[in-house]
Order: sequence, then C-alpha cells, then structure tokens
Amino acid sequence: MATKFQAPRGTFDVLPEQARSRRRLEAAAAEIFARAGYESIATPVFEGTDLFERGVGRSTDIVRKEMFTFEDKGGRSLTLRPEGTASICRAYLEHGMQKLAQPVKLSYLGPFFRHERPQAGRYRQFHQLGAECIGTDSPLADAEVITLLADLLEELGVPGVELRLGSLGSFEARRAYLEELKAHLRAHEGELSGDVRERIDINPLRAFDADDEGTQGVMASAPTIVERLEGEDAEHFAEVRGLLDAAGISYVVDPTLVRGLDYYTRTIFSFVCDQLGAQSEVGGGGRYDGLIEQLGGAPTPAVGFAAGIERILLALGETAAPSVGNKVFISTNYDEEMERAFALVSDLRHKGIPAELDLAGRGQKGQLKHANRIGAKFVLFLHGENAELRDMESGEQRQIDLANIADEMTGGSG
Ligand code: ATP
Ligand code: MG
Repeated sequence: MATKFQAPRGTFDVLPEQARSRRRLEAAAAEIFARAGYESIATPVFEGTDLFERGVGRSTDIVRKEMFTFEDKGGRSLTLRPEGTASICRAYLEHGMQKLAQPVKLSYLGPFFRHERPQAGRYRQFHQLGAECIGTDSPLADAEVITLLADLLEELGVPGVELRLGSLGSFEARRAYLEELKAHLRAHEGELSGDVRERIDINPLRAFDADDEGTQGVMASAPTIVERLEGEDAEHFAEVRGLLDAAGISYVVDPTLVRGLDYYTRTIFSFVCDQLGAQSEVGGGGRYDGLIEQLGGAPTPAVGFAAGIERILLALGETAAPSVGNKVFISTNYDEEMERAFALVSDLRHKGIPAELDLAGRGQKGQLKHANRIGAKFVLFLHGENAELRDMESGEQRQIDLANIADEMTGGSG
C-alpha cells in the first residue's frame, strides 16, 4: 500500500547519512564559536508577531509575504521565527543583558521558517547558525563576526566562496542618500519593474536586488551609498577593511550590496558560493545599531551574521559522511554468550569505544555480513575463555586478552 503521508511542502527529513554531515558542520561551528567566546543561546521557535514586524521591518519581503503567522487559542498573533536576530535582541533586553560586561557575544543554531516558493536551497523550514555581538560599535566586532563565518566555510572546505562587503552608513547618512536614490528612481520610473516602482518610497534599496533588465539598467547609473560615506561612517568602513586585510580575509567591496532586513546600518556583508546557482548566498549579516532601540531598549550598537546550513551542505555536495570509524562488532553465540556479549558491549561503550552487537538473531555468517554493513573495523568472537579479534580490513585474526581490549584495538589497527 502506498503511503499517504508526506512531509509538508518545502520541508524535508534529515536521514541518518545526511545527519552525519550536519553533525560535522555543527561541531565545527560550535568549536569556532567557543574558541572566540560566543556562548550559545536558544530562543523559542515562535514569538509574538509584533516582534518581527518591528524587529525585521514591515517593508521587508519577510514580513510582507514570508511569515507563518497563526492565532493561538487566546487570539494572540504568533509567528514561527523567520530569522534569529530579533529574538536574540528581545532576549537580551528581557534578561537585562545590558547590565553584563559588554559586548555580549552569542551564537545559535536551529530551525527557521519562511513561506517561500520551495526550490533548491530554498525551503519553508530551514536551519541557520549565526552569531551576534551586542553592545559595541567597534569595527573589531564587525571584523570578528565576519571572521567567524569565513573560518567556518574555510574549515569545512566550502569551494568557490566570495565575501562581498558594503556599508550602508549610519541612519542619518542613509536618510540623505535615500532621498537622492529615490529622486534617481523617480527620474527613471518608466523603466522600472512594477514591484520596484511601488516601493520607491518604502524600500528603494531593494531596487539594487531586482532581477529585471529595466531596473538593472536604471541601477547601473544610480548613486551608491558607499560613494557617499563621510566622516565616522567612512572611517568605520575603512577600519573594518583594514582589519580583514590584517587577518588575511579576502573580500570585494560591492557598492550595490543590500540586505533583506530593514535594521542594518554601516557594515553589511554576504558570502556567496559559485556552486549554488540562483540561491547563491550561504550566509551574511551586518551591523544593526538601531534595532535594540527599535525594540524598546537604550541605543545599543550590535553586529551579527546568519548562515544557511542547507546551503552550506549543498555547496559541499552534501557528501554522505562515513559512519564512525574504529567500531567493534561483537559476534555472539545466542545460546551461551549473549549476556556476556551484552555486558561487554556496554563496557566498551562506557570506555568510549563504538561497539555494537546483533539484535536480530542472525546466525554467525549473517552477523559477519552485518558487521561489514555497519562499517565495523573489528569483529570480536567470544569462545568460552578465549576471545579473538578480527581486523576486517586485513582479515587478520588473533587471540586477545579481553581485559586489554581497548589497547588491543588501537595497537592492532597499526
Ligand atoms: P535569499 O536572498 O537567498 O532569500 P535572504 O536575504 O532572505 O536570502 P537572510 O535572511 O540573510 O537571507 O538569511 C541568512 C541565510 O539563511 C541566507 O544566506 C541563506 O543561506 C539562508 N536562507 C534564507 N532563506 C532560506 C530558505 N528559505 N531556505 C534555506 N535557506 C535560507
Ligand atoms: Mg529571502
């Protein structure tokens, strides 16, 4: 009978083989975050809808059309989190983290939800990992969070990565620039796509992201904010670049870079990968000096990034990772040795040695086949007082002293 149930559109199951490459990625990220002092934080997968309306911005694609919003039984509007930064800033304020030594450095990893048209690298439930550095406007913080993601992609061996860097200036500088940009767009209204034209006043920066030829032609001659940066904004951007240079991180300055969220100020960045086709961004982020104030806190500068875990795995070719090495399979003769074999398996596991035994009542031959299937490096045969260890690669088999099995395994593997 064909199964009736399927995972909902735009979602997927992570099967054991895929879980292994995910674990490798997650472990690498956890290590990089820990080394740099980014403690982990977890927030709920849903929040009050107003948090995202305020924190992500009503003019963004995310709030306009991508949120999974529902009412709870009390009639309160809730939304499955589409991104992490607003929630983390909410938690920062709710738990009085502004009273801690600043900056507060946090990292996270988990599922996020956006109602988008599913395609390769774009899902309705996906996973992000990210970091936030809250409470300093130092360019060192910008360079630090960029470095975290650069190091992760490098360590995982993601091929064809390019870092694009831009700056949006402070809110004040941006306001003047946006007026200039709107004037440019209005002067060429006839050549713009309908969507861009409608949003000239709401979100003119998004025109840089448009994929229609008309708008792209208009944007080729548009003024860019990077050219307009002045004073402290220009200095801040130059310092971030200098720090990245010092750390040996290569980047291209992209004056047309914009990000999907309203809250960015000054530094913005995007890591793209040439292996990914249309959904080319593996991760990105920037500085959001106005967000915490927007959520009701005191003005608090901050910077962070988020990266898409599925995009990174896709870029890596999502090769199925091999199962854990050095595993021992204990062959049991069900009648006499079962309890002894079971005790031995537990003991080995407690000692940190991966160990399995047959749970399905297979005969001797079937057990050997199964040992092969699960990638066991050794098979242990128990015969009364004697124990024999077979190396599955070389086929070599020798008597061992069970008391020293851990040493025998490492010694025996050469
Ligand atoms: P895109 O331009 O691809 O829509 P975005 O600007 O919406 O990206 P962000 O909000 O900055 O992306 O999210 C950070 C990262 O999360 C992206 O770089 C991407 O790797 C990943 N991501 C975003 N949306 C999705 C999705 N629907 N499915 C899978 N990954 C996603
Ligand atoms: Mg998007």
